Amino acid sequence: MPDAPHPLPQHAPMTQFAVSHGELMPGGERLTTLAARVGQTPFYAYGRSQLRQRITELRQTLPPKIRLHYAMKANPMPALVGFMAGLVDGLDVASAGELKVALDTGMSPKQISFAGPGKRDAELRQAVAAGVLVNIESFREVDVLAQASQTLGLPARAAVRINPDFELKSSGMKMGGGPKPFGVDVEQVPTLLANMGRAGLSFEGFHLYPGSQSLQAEAICEALQQSFDLAVRLSQHAPDKVRVLNLGGGLGVPYFPGDKPLDLKPIAEQLERLLQLGQAQLPQATLALELGRYLVAEAGIYVTRVVDRKRSRDQVYLVADGGLHHHLAATGNFGQVLRKNYPVAIGNKMDAPASQVTTVVGPSCTPLDVLAERLLLPEAQVGDLVVVFQSGAYGASASPHQFLAHPPCVEVLV
Ligand SMILES: *Cc1c(COP(=O)(O)O)cnc(C)c1O
Repeated sequence: MPDAPHPLPQHAPMTQFAVSHGELMPGGERLTTLAARVGQTPFYAYGRSQLRQRITELRQTLPPKIRLHYAMKANPMPALVGFMAGLVDGLDVASAGELKVALDTGMSPKQISFAGPGKRDAELRQAVAAGVLVNIESFREVDVLAQASQTLGLPARAAVRINPDFELKSSGMKMGGGPKPFGVDVEQVPTLLANMGRAGLSFEGFHLYPGSQSLQAEAICEALQQSFDLAVRLSQHAPDKVRVLNLGGGLGVPYFPGDKPLDLKPIAEQLERLLQLGQAQLPQATLALELGRYLVAEAGIYVTRVVDRKRSRDQVYLVADGGLHHHLAATGNFGQVLRKNYPVAIGNKMDAPASQVTTVVGPSCTPLDVLAERLLLPEAQVGDLVVVFQSGAYGASASPHQFLAHPPCVEVLV
């Protein structure tokens, strides 16, 4: 007997937004009404209840002692960051610009930390003046922080971002292990710690961030263990007790056909184990995760209107008013090696049968501007609303808005 054909890999079901009378209901509002209220397409909409839901799930699953930070670079929209500030235990910023948005939320500077390569002198001074924790990523930063602390007459709160000697396996973007511009190599950390002690910086702990977008719980658990072990080992060289151990995160979300949502259970168990070990080995330390994508990606949609519908040879094209210039990642141009489709729907025809193999492209004059390639969708017409799911992270702020001088997009929190 011939083998049964392999079923094509499918997108994980996108059930985070309700559907009513054939329309997606972000914020409990019909998509067509929301589009009218926003006053234009394209736009991004981020759902408060989806954001809250995600954090509730994490709090219910992870040990209560684990602190949850939001890494703002995933989505720095001020209204969203303000909303998140009320739900998480800390905000992580990657520039002075993000620091301003974080402070504007009213979050205490005690709960804000600043990581990233190439922090300019002025940014480090701003961080000291604000009283936020700086994750040190080079020997130069020690000196600049000490100087700023002296001239301002304020303590410089500092942790060391370690470039580990391992990486997060199976992650979409590797951020540690081998030569990296991020953090300080493990081997150099003892010397750096000695310098920090001499410079009079206020040492608070360690930060690691081995990778991003992993959907494999075992790989994340392994990286958490290795990060913890490294911090314990290096704590012997530290000028003071380790009070914070920021373990990064790297938790991923399902974007592409065949991707399965991450199983939090093993991660929760692993964190519980590390908390136990920590009582003996790092007794003063609180353990934190800093998550960007995992907190916000699934709460966001990108909505764009069909401007034209045409056929070329055997292919149906929907040409939309949005695309690569607002949502680089969905077109496969933000770090992906092979282009794959994000989950896409016709947001005002959610109940219609998916009957037509369709390619959705943006208005930019380049073959890179593809939102969906040969995806089975309901038959759509000019004026219909194309929805790209999983769009709450690395969307608007990670896209080349000026490209081709198309109109900007709008972002709303619903
Ligand atoms: C980008 C970044 C994050 C967030 O990563 P996600 O994959 O979005 O969770 C967290 N910490 C640091 C240091 C980062 O650079």
